[in-house]
Amino acid sequence: MFETDVQDVPQEALTGSLPSESQIARLLHEAYARCAEVTTGEVADYIPALAEADPALFGLSLTEVDGTGHRVGDTAALFTIQSISKAFVLALVCEAIGHQEVHRVVGVNNTGLPFNSVIALELNDGNPMNPMVNAGAIATTALVPGATAEEKWWTLHEGLSRFAGRSLELDTRVLDSESASNHRNQGIADLLTSYDRLHADPAEMVDLYTRQCSLLVTADDLAVMGATLADGGINPVTGERVVSPEVCRDTLSVLAACGMYELSGEWLFEIGLPAKSGVSGGIVAIAPGKGALGAFSPPLDRAGNSVRGQRACAHLSRALGLNLFASRPHPAKDAEHA
Ligand code: GLN
Repeated sequence: MFETDVQDVPQEALTGSLPSESQIARLLHEAYARCAEVTTGEVADYIPALAEADPALFGLSLTEVDGTGHRVGDTAALFTIQSISKAFVLALVCEAIGHQEVHRVVGVNNTGLPFNSVIALELNDGNPMNPMVNAGAIATTALVPGATAEEKWWTLHEGLSRFAGRSLELDTRVLDSESASNHRNQGIADLLTSYDRLHADPAEMVDLYTRQCSLLVTADDLAVMGATLADGGINPVTGERVVSPEVCRDTLSVLAACGMYELSGEWLFEIGLPAKSGVSGGIVAIAPGKGALGAFSPPLDRAGNSVRGQRACAHLSRALGLNLFASRPHPAKDAEHA
């Protein structure tokens, strides 16, 4: 599915650390050049304002856990974070109320169905299944600490900004556009309420969720946000602790199982990293203990994942030795078989 011709995986990077900075820079440029040629995929248009995105924009950014950044292309272009917010809101909620509660109320299993599926809810007795699909994300947002929607928003905005290391701004045009057209999400929230699985005002929770999706980020921001999850919860650029190492671990396991929706299995098979995508074309892929990739390119595949972003992550996962499932024999045993 993601054919690459990468052969030069640095052996030392397979299990331990990233290759040298000059190698990372070279491989990032190589991935960019190869994937820039890909022109398949469609820009999302079910949120009218997203249809205006420039399909030619393409940026790749990598932040190492020591804070070193590498970038190529349009990594400063702003776009709305969309579903990638779900990953970081999950982390904030786990930090605030504990992962067991999230497990109990929302779940951690893949639905095998699209992110905005209503059938998934019906098939599972109203259980949202996981925080990466819209039903589970709305249920997770309802668990954000705060007595009012405004207080919850403050916690959300402040928390996501701490992951990025800067105060994120809201794209009110995209917010208004999605708010005027998100009948499906409103239906999902009402359905959750009918199953007694949403203990907050459904319209307010959809509004909060839509707002979190409308925060503006860049590919550079995604790399820093992801690197915070790769770095035991400390933002490697600001040095601030955002969440605990345990919360990073739990969040990343949910991303591995559900972050790329119904294609999460294929993604894990090809790329081997926890990741999250959004319909505006962003992807964050996290290599625990190493760093994170932020990719941005608006054209999407049928599941809503950026086509170029996926290809670039596949290329870089192989070239940089990021796949979590890769190992090599113990040196002594390796020598015996040499
Ligand atoms: N705000 C979008 C929605 O709820 C986010 C979806 C996505 O990025 N996959 O439909």
